[in-house]
Amino acid sequence: MELTERNLKQISKTECFDTSFIKKEIDSGRATILKNKKRKINPVIVGEKFKCKYNLNLGISPVKSGISEELKKLDIAISNGADTVMDLSVGKSCEETRQRLLKSSSIPFGTVPVYTMINDEEDIKKLSKNLILDTIEKQCEEGVDFMTIHSGLLRKSIPYIKKRLTGVVSRGGSLILRYMIENNRENPFYEYFDDIINVLKKYDVVISIGDGLRPGSIYDATDKAQISELKTIGELNSYSRKHGVHTMIEGPGHIPINQIKRNVDLAKKYTSNAPLYFLGPLITDIAMGYDHINGAIGGAVAGYLGVSLICAVGPSEHIGLPTIDDIRLECVTFNLVKHSVNIAKGFKDEIDRDNKLSSFRKKFKWNEQIKLSIDPEYASKRFCELNNSKGDYCSMCGNSFCAIKNTGKALEKV
Ligand code: SF4
Repeated sequence: MELTERNLKQISKTECFDTSFIKKEIDSGRATILKNKKRKINPVIVGEKFKCKYNLNLGISPVKSGISEELKKLDIAISNGADTVMDLSVGKSCEETRQRLLKSSSIPFGTVPVYTMINDEEDIKKLSKNLILDTIEKQCEEGVDFMTIHSGLLRKSIPYIKKRLTGVVSRGGSLILRYMIENNRENPFYEYFDDIINVLKKYDVVISIGDGLRPGSIYDATDKAQISELKTIGELNSYSRKHGVHTMIEGPGHIPINQIKRNVDLAKKYTSNAPLYFLGPLITDIAMGYDHINGAIGGAVAGYLGVSLICAVGPSEHIGLPTIDDIRLECVTFNLVKHSVNIAKGFKDEIDRDNKLSSFRKKFKWNEQIKLSIDPEYASKRFCELNNSKGDYCSMCGNSFCAIKNTGKALEKV
């Protein structure tokens, strides 16, 4: 991995660690840098000791959205604080969508290359070594910074999948499973793993080892299918690191709160503390329309326990492709998640923001409070809507019952 002094200084400035500590974490495999050597972006570090971050998913489906809408979503994601984005486009226009989004992205950009290899059901039969390696190399050449490769789903897990309530819910995982069963073959991303690693290495592209068997319901959480895949992912992580390719480990999925710690601990154990990248997790199956809150609760717990990168979940999860408004809400929600995790991790700049806002709250400095809040535009709108004066109380308790005011008056006398 090419890491210049300038890159290290950039990371040092945003993460508040000295460069020797950053180097040590990277060399140990506990941290990963997201930046293709062909891209001119600020590198982003992902690791347990560093600030918690979130990824936002974009991309067209064969039935919804278009390139211009996805470009707008990308702008919203970047201007609202997303740390990384992934293009999950599928269907005929996926190549052009990826290329346009990548060109416009000033933050690390990830893909799932199998989506480009399989454009329709007929393509499932056509997966070949050449197609896999050529597609991955093409995306590396274009500048993609990290790629999800579902290489841990093996034939030995198939009997466990049959016992599940919700089977395979990973889109990439389900395509690979169909290829494996219909062709009576092993997972090709596992079979050609060393060739894939050799391609990624040339470009400093990070492999995000995908969890094709992440549970899609709390019933399936932490089951034999998931854990058998995790053990394989652990072996592939060691292999990648030994061959000079940085890794992230993708994680579940639908996990009840009481199982999040076990999942984080198992992932750390099998991958020697590689950076973890979890989807949420979602702590219940029933939050349709509110899955951003569902994912935020799981993400905050997982982040506190050591997950480094959280894949944001939006309110349209399990329902349909997100709209532009959904993306905005998703960003605000996961800004709150990462901020809350970073307070718990003790990052002084993040704690200072809360302390400053609270001191303005005590002095009834409304505009200053709003500026420091998680979504100033919304906070300002609500403040005006709720019949507030800009005085020394608000419409919640009113003048006589304002606790801050009454405390101030009381303390004046002691
Ligand atoms: S009126 Fe109540 S809610 Fe409003 S500022 Fe005073 S204590 Fe806080």
